[in-house]
Amino acid sequence: MVGSVVEAEQFVSTKPNANGVMAAQILSVPEFDLAAVIAEPVPPLATTDTNLWEEDEEKKIVLGRNIHTSSLEVTEPEPNDDLTGDKDAYMASVLARYRKTLMERTKHHLGYPYNLDFDYGALAQLQHFSINNLGDPFIESNYGVHSRQFEVGVLDWFARLWELEKDEYWGYITNCGTEGNLHGILVGREVLPDGVLYASRETHYSIFKAARMYRMDCVKIDTLVSGEIDCADFKARLLQNKDKPAIVNVNIGTTVKGAVDDLDLVIQTLEECGFSHDRFYIHCDGALFGLMMPFVKRAPKVSFKKPIGSVSVSGHKFVGCPMPCGVQITRIEHINALSRNVEYLASRDATIMGSRNGHAPIFLWYTLNKKGYKGFQKEVQKCLRNAHYLKDRLIEAGISAMLNELSSTVVFERPADEEFVRRWQLACQGNIAHVVVMPNVTIDKLDDFLNELTEHRAAWFQAGKTQPCVESDIGRENCLCPLHK
Ligand SMILES: *Cc1c(COP(=O)(O)O)cnc(C)c1O
Repeated sequence: MVGSVVEAEQFVSTKPNANGVMAAQILSVPEFDLAAVIAEPVPPLATTDTNLWEEDEEKKIVLGRNIHTSSLEVTEPEPNDDLTGDKDAYMASVLARYRKTLMERTKHHLGYPYNLDFDYGALAQLQHFSINNLGDPFIESNYGVHSRQFEVGVLDWFARLWELEKDEYWGYITNCGTEGNLHGILVGREVLPDGVLYASRETHYSIFKAARMYRMDCVKIDTLVSGEIDCADFKARLLQNKDKPAIVNVNIGTTVKGAVDDLDLVIQTLEECGFSHDRFYIHCDGALFGLMMPFVKRAPKVSFKKPIGSVSVSGHKFVGCPMPCGVQITRIEHINALSRNVEYLASRDATIMGSRNGHAPIFLWYTLNKKGYKGFQKEVQKCLRNAHYLKDRLIEAGISAMLNELSSTVVFERPADEEFVRRWQLACQGNIAHVVVMPNVTIDKLDDFLNELTEHRAAWFQAGKTQPCVESDIGRENCLCPLHK
C-alpha cells in the first residue's frame, strides 16, 4: 500500500490571537507532513560558508528549512492499483491538499516580485501539447509543435518598447531573468573578448555567476545608500583598467532595494574615461523593473537609441506569467558573432538553453494583448501608490523604512522572528527585509500585514528583542533605531 499522509496542519487565521500570544502554531504554515514515510536520515542543514557567489564576504545567513523533512516520496504502483483505484485516490487527495496550500501561500506572499494576479483560464486547453521553441525564434525548426508566431509577436512588442527597429533586433523568450543576464553578458564577451565586467555590489547574483561561468575578470563597484551604482567609484575602477574594454551591467531595479542605476551617468562616465562606443558594451538587467520603468514619470529611459547592447526582463515578475520566463533583446549584429548553425535542428543556435518553453510566449502574448501599454501604466501607478502607503504606515509605527523614488520595493527593518518572515515570505538580507508591491498586493493585504507586524513586534520587544540599527543599510535619515530616531 502507499504511505500514509499525515493530515496537513490546521489552516491558521490571518490575524494574531487576541491576547497577543505569538505561539508557533499560529504562525505555522499548512504543509504536508510526510515525516511518517521518510525512511532515510535527513542531510544536515548547511549553516555557514555556503554563500557561493560572495566569497569575499563571509556572512551568516539563514537558510530555509530542509525540504527533505516534508518531501513527497514516489511510491511504486502495486499490481492491483488499476483495480482498486487506491493509487488514484491517494494522488488526487495529495493534489487537492497541495492546491489548498498554494491558495494559502499565495494569499500571504509579499517578499518576491511576482505578480500573482492573473486569469489564464482561456489557455488551459493548451496544456495537452508539448510546445517547444528550441533553436532560434526567427528560424523555423523541423519540430512543428512550436509557438514562434506568438514569441516573435511578443519580441516585436518589447523591441518597440525599447526603441529598436524590427530589422535591427534579435531576441528570444528565455526561461527566466537569469538566462537573459547570462545571455547578455555572453554577447558582451563575444563582442569584446578581453573585456572586464563591471557590476555594482548590489547586482543580482546571476551576473557574478556569469562572470564565474565565463571566467571573466569582474570588478565590483560600490553603491550609494539607495543601492544605485556609485559612478565616482566606477570612474576610478575604469581608469585602473583603461587598456581593456568594458562590459557593464546596469541595474534597472536592484533585487533588494529596487534601485535604478543611472544609465545616462554610466554612459557619460565611460565617455569621460575615454571609452569610445566600440570599446564598451552595456547590458541592462531589467528583470524586476524593466517593464515598470517605461511607465514611471521622471525615470531614466531604457532605449537602444543609447549605446546599449542588450536588455532583459523577467516575465513572471511584474508581467505576471505563471511559469518562470523572461525576454532578452539585443542588436542583430551582435548575435551573428555568437551563433552557430545546427543541422539537426535546421536552425541556428544562439540561445543559452536548448529546449525552450513554448507555453510561456503564449501567456506573455495573452497578457500583453489584454493589458496593453495603458493597462501596464495603470498597474504601475497603483503599485507605486500602494508602496508609498506601506512605507508611510511603517514609519508611523516607528519602523525604519526606505522606498526609492522610482521603485515599489519597500525596505524595512528585518522582523525579529523567522517564522513571521516565512509566513509572509519576506526576502531578507542582513538587518533588512523588503516587500515588493506588485499589482496583486492590495491595501487590504498591506493592512493585514501591518497589523500583524505591529502586534508581533510589540511582543518581540517585550520578550527582550531590540530594534536593529539599519543606518548602514538604508541611511541615517531612514533609520528609526533608538540611537538614530
Ligand atoms: C529576479 C532578478 C533576476 C533574476 O531573475 P530570475 O527570473 O529569477 O532568474 C535578475 N536580476 C534582478 C535585478 C532580479 O530582481
